[in-house]
Amino acid sequence: SAPIPDAAGATPAMAQWFAAKAAHPDALIFFRMGDFFELFFGDAILGGEALGLAVAQRGEHGGQPIPMAGVPVHAMEAYLARLIRRGFRVAICEQMEMPEQAKARKAPAVRREVVRIVTPATVTEEALLEGARPSWLLALVPDGSERVGAAWLDVSTGHVCTESLPAPELGALLARLDPAEVLAPEALAAGDALTPLGGMVREATPPKDGARLAAEAWGVASLDAFGSFSEGEAAALAMALDYVRATSGGSLPRLAPPECRGGEGTLRMDAATRRSLEILKAERGGRDCLLAAVDRTLTAAGARELAARLAAPLAEAAPIAARHDAVAFLFAATTLRGRLREALKGAPDMARALGRLSVERFFPRDLAALRDGLARAEAMRAALSDAAGVPPVPPLLLAAGEALVPGNSPRAELARALAPELPARLEEGGVVGPGYDGELDALRRLRDDARGAILALQMDLAQAWGVASLKIRHHQQLGFLAEVPAAAGEALLRQKPAPGPMAPVHRQSMANAHRFTCGALSELDRKLSQARDEAAKREALVVRHLRKLCLDAAAGIAAAARAVAEVDVHAGAAELASSGGWCRPEMPERPEFCIVQGRHPVVEAALRRNRGPAFVPNDADLSPGRRLCLLTGPNMAGKSTYLRQNALMVVLAQAGLFVPAESARIGLVDRLFSRVGTADDIAGGRSTFMVEMSETAAVLNLAGPRSFVVLDEVGRGTATWDGLAIAWAVLEALHDRLRSRTLFATHFHELTALAGKLPELAPAAMKVREHRGQVVFQHLVGPGASERSWGLHVARLAGVPREVVGRAETVLASLEERARGLDPLSGELPLFAAPAAPVAGLQPVVEQDLLRGALEALDPDAMAPREALEALYRLKSLL
Ligand code: ADP
Repeated sequence: SAPIPDAAGATPAMAQWFAAKAAHPDALIFFRMGDFFELFFGDAILGGEALGLAVAQRGEHGGQPIPMAGVPVHAMEAYLARLIRRGFRVAICEQMEMPEQAKARKAPAVRREVVRIVTPATVTEEALLEGARPSWLLALVPDGSERVGAAWLDVSTGHVCTESLPAPELGALLARLDPAEVLAPEALAAGDALTPLGGMVREATPPKDGARLAAEAWGVASLDAFGSFSEGEAAALAMALDYVRATSGGSLPRLAPPECRGGEGTLRMDAATRRSLEILKAERGGRDCLLAAVDRTLTAAGARELAARLAAPLAEAAPIAARHDAVAFLFAATTLRGRLREALKGAPDMARALGRLSVERFFPRDLAALRDGLARAEAMRAALSDAAGVPPVPPLLLAAGEALVPGNSPRAELARALAPELPARLEEGGVVGPGYDGELDALRRLRDDARGAILALQMDLAQAWGVASLKIRHHQQLGFLAEVPAAAGEALLRQKPAPGPMAPVHRQSMANAHRFTCGALSELDRKLSQARDEAAKREALVVRHLRKLCLDAAAGIAAAARAVAEVDVHAGAAELASSGGWCRPEMPERPEFCIVQGRHPVVEAALRRNRGPAFVPNDADLSPGRRLCLLTGPNMAGKSTYLRQNALMVVLAQAGLFVPAESARIGLVDRLFSRVGTADDIAGGRSTFMVEMSETAAVLNLAGPRSFVVLDEVGRGTATWDGLAIAWAVLEALHDRLRSRTLFATHFHELTALAGKLPELAPAAMKVREHRGQVVFQHLVGPGASERSWGLHVARLAGVPREVVGRAETVLASLEERARGLDPLSGELPLFAAPAAPVAGLQPVVEQDLLRGALEALDPDAMAPREALEALYRLKSLL
């Protein structure tokens, strides 16, 4: 950020700015001046550019004009949202008193203080949040020598979780949570895992005695009340709480008790797998992610819950079956599903409204959100109760039904209290409707009476002053004034009026009017503003009471909000399954994998949207005895789609959803690895091949007999023989040692020779045919290996000159001849014990062939001297 000028010689207000900037050097200072938040100096330049604001100049400092840019207070949220999205932090420096109060104290400027720092993970305003995504603040602290304690919380909903994980799994956690902001001590922040996150990471110091501090925040004697937390988890929790306090002016929002997640019980997926499967976001623009393709939820909270489930699918049979039971029930009970979805449609986001109420940064619509949200929840409960019978409502839906209506629900009270039409902001008044609070009604009547009296006075004054067109108007600073046209005003000014309550007192002259007041008008003005103030005060009191009612019921409301989200997810999954022909997967404990007519949900949806050809469903069978599928086929034939669709079946099934297939049997998976198309992305300056190999290494080190592995083109990033050797060895390791269910796509046809050697390897190929001189990809997977000459075939169809294709055929034949001579299968296994000599011997053969080819192509009689010389150079370069 820009250098901050020296503060010496600043005006009193600017001195406050310098103090705020010194305390928050890494934030833009939003400096409140009346109806604007102003940015000064470097902030004005940076912020002005980010927001497209004109930078003006105001006064001078140190002999230089001060750059300044401002945003109106009433529109600040939209501006904040843009700044946060651009990676800025903003410190809100508020006026803490009215100008009159400052004057009374004889202070040179109104007191200002930084009340809040707006950062990506600590915002609660609707405009600043993405409805369908949690906004995680993640704190990380080393936990012993090999582990990391993690705590993450969503300030907007009050959700808190912790986990202690092995240090190498940090990348996977980051990929799963996709946090908005990360806190870590310096050493961790500078480490390999966090540096790629850049400005999202902030250095922080874990407080000593984190467990006690965290326990205090929840008002319990010990965190043990909520589970068993490691030292690192407690420290991370305390560090996150510190940060939230520091950014919100010392207070904490309402937070649910922390959930301690062993990480056990969830399907393990590393960052590369998530990238490759595009679960929550698409990697390269344009395409959809899995979440977008399967999301049929109707509320923001439901969408967040679905995202959380897809990001962390389960790995235990019972809880998965419970979710499938709920979806299956709603799949069959179409009337119930319709009623539930009717109630869900447009249901407000109670969790976030509650979050705003708890930090006192709330709006009238947040109270309405609880009123309406609870009403929707009651309707859902009624629908569920009506469905009780045969078949019985499954346990998850029964539990949700219980939670939908909190015992001390403030719904009825809110319904009675809130006005039918609510103002946008509390200060505008009119939040509480008539008939709820007698005293408020009485004060409002007084206010309205005074208003009526002023209207009546307008007629009296018009008559008394003899000006028919007299109008009483309200003026921001001067209060109510009687306005008369210029000529009548001049006449009044010349008169010497008799003293009395109606005697005009001149206040203001304008071009074509004069404004007067009088004793009676001032008196009414005073009465009115008093009544108005009293009514506002009384209303604030009533609103405080309503807020308290809601907060007293916070735990119950939060549980109801969660239940709404869960029912939304289950009903959405049932809707998706019934409209798209999805099925409930069987989930045996044995490592089976058998899919009949499976589809890729994202590709299928994209084809349908673009009115493309219908998606071709494919079977998959990796049951014991045929655990490895070796898939060959030319590019664009649909290999990666097939690989990904089967990995996605696992994610969907274990997240508790149905799967896009006619039938599916998926033995529980403990770890899922997908390496499809990821190594194309060069990461952090490492070579593609290096990335590919380290990702392959992770599979070989971690996969086991309950894992599911999907590998595409292992070894493509290096020379042919290296690559083939590596692919071969990896395939063998998966088959013999790791025994994972594996889909392995390759363009090394040599690998199909392994089929005979590895009993559990089943070769498969993408079907391709030729139709009227065009290659037609059938997108169909069949048994066996693909034909190997497709590359040349495609080259011919693409119009590569006949001689060249013919020549390529000769070279290919010669290569195959040589390759047969060194067929690894002809020797003893292990296959690549001594490949050095024959592989090295291949090179000259190719060179000779190329050289001969080049010589044959020359026609010396037809060459100009210069062409001959160039040909000589070219030939030399072939050696
Ligand atoms: P590969 O990995 O073999 O190069 P892809 O899996 O990327 O091929 O598929 C290429 C394109 O073919 C996809 O973008 C999709 O449009 C289409 N496709 C793939 N599989 C199918 C299928 N089963 N049914 C219909 N179209 C498909």
